[in-house]
Amino acid sequence: MLNKLVVFLLTIPLFTFATTVNIGIYTDLQVTSLLVTQQSGNYYLDFDNSSKREMDNESVYFIFAINDSILIKSNQQILGRFKRIEFKENAPSVLKVRCILPSTASKLFDNNLVLFSENGSLKVRNVVELENYVAGVVEMEAGSNHTLEYYKVQAIICRTYALSNLRRHETEQYNLCDNVHCQVYKGNNRLNQQITEATLQTKNLVLVDKKSELITTAFHSNCGGQTCNSEDVWGMSKPYLRSVRDTFCLRQRNATWVKSVPKSNWVNYLNQNCKPCANDSSLLCCNFDQTERKTSLSYSSIQIPLKNIRNDLRLKSSFFAIQVQPDSVLFIGKGYGHGVGLCQEGAIQMAKAGLKYNYILHYYYKDVDIINLNQLHFFKD
Ligand SMILES: [Zn+2]
Ligand SMILES: [Zn+2]
Repeated sequence: MLNKLVVFLLTIPLFTFATTVNIGIYTDLQVTSLLVTQQSGNYYLDFDNSSKREMDNESVYFIFAINDSILIKSNQQILGRFKRIEFKENAPSVLKVRCILPSTASKLFDNNLVLFSENGSLKVRNVVELENYVAGVVEMEAGSNHTLEYYKVQAIICRTYALSNLRRHETEQYNLCDNVHCQVYKGNNRLNQQITEATLQTKNLVLVDKKSELITTAFHSNCGGQTCNSEDVWGMSKPYLRSVRDTFCLRQRNATWVKSVPKSNWVNYLNQNCKPCANDSSLLCCNFDQTERKTSLSYSSIQIPLKNIRNDLRLKSSFFAIQVQPDSVLFIGKGYGHGVGLCQEGAIQMAKAGLKYNYILHYYYKDVDIINLNQLHFFKD
C-alpha cells in the first residue's frame, strides 16, 4: 500500500500539464527590427539574465537584430547590446508589438516575451498562459459572429490540440508555432468578448479517448452530410474519428460545389492513374455517384482512391459525383475539407439551434470524454 502511494505521488509531476506554453511568433517572417510598448499592466526588462530595468507606459522600445545579438533603444537612447532580452510581467499584463522590417500591424500579446537573434533575424517567443493562448487561437480559427456555445466547442478543440502537440517544435526549443503548421495565433486581441467568456467557461477542459489519451481533434469546414472514417483519408484508424451523418451543415456556405474539367484532361488523368483504362477506352469517362461516401472511384475494373483524385485535381472534397458532358466532365461535390472529425458549419448550426457544447463534441467525436486536464494523472493511474 505504501509502495503504491509512493509510486502515485512520484507519478503526479510527470502528468501535470504546464499552464504556460512557449509559442514561436512571426515564424513565417524574417524580422530584423520591431517595436515593443506596454499596453497594460506592469513589466520589467531582463537583459541576459544579468540586469533589469522597469518598463513604463510611455516608453517605446526599438529592437534590432545584429548577427547573433540584439540592440535595444528607447527614447533615442541606446540601452545596450545583448544576447537575450525578456519582457517579464510583474502581474498579468499585455504588450503591444509591431514589426518594422518587414512591416506588420500591431498585435497584443499577453504575459511574457523573449527575444534573441540568429544570423541577423529576430526570434520572438511568447511565453503565455494556456488560456490566453487558446482565446487567441479561437479568434483566428473560428472567426466572428458565432454563439458562445460554438466558441466553447472550438476552445476545447484548440486546447486539446495544443496540449497534445507541445513537442512539435522541440528541436527549436518552443512548443508551437503561430501559423497553420500548428494553430494560427496572432496574439490575443480580445476582439470578441464571447471568445474570452467561452475560454473561461471551459477552462482546462480537454477531450480524451477511452485510454485517457488526448485525442486528435480533426475538424474541417463542411462534411457535405457525412463525415469520414479517419483510416479512409489518412490510413490511420482512430476509434473516435468515425463516419457520422450530419444534416445541420446541408444548407451552409460550403455545402455544395461544382467544378468543370476539360474531358481530355480527365481522360489523361485516368490513363495515368488506371492501367486498365489505357487498354480499354470504354472504361473511360463514365458517370459516377456517391449517395453515401465511398473510398474509391470504382466502376468496372477501375479503382482510384477518392482522396487521391481530390488532391490531384484540387477539389474541395472527395464527396463528389461525376457527370460526363460532350467536352467536359462535371464534378458535382458536397462539403469542403478532408471530412474527418468535427464539421464546423454543422457545429455552428447545432449551437445556433440551442445544443450544448458537450453534445456537439460527442456527436462528432465518438466514445470520448471531456475532462479537466488536472484529472489526467488520476486517469493515468
Ligand atoms: Zn508549427
Ligand atoms: Zn457537416
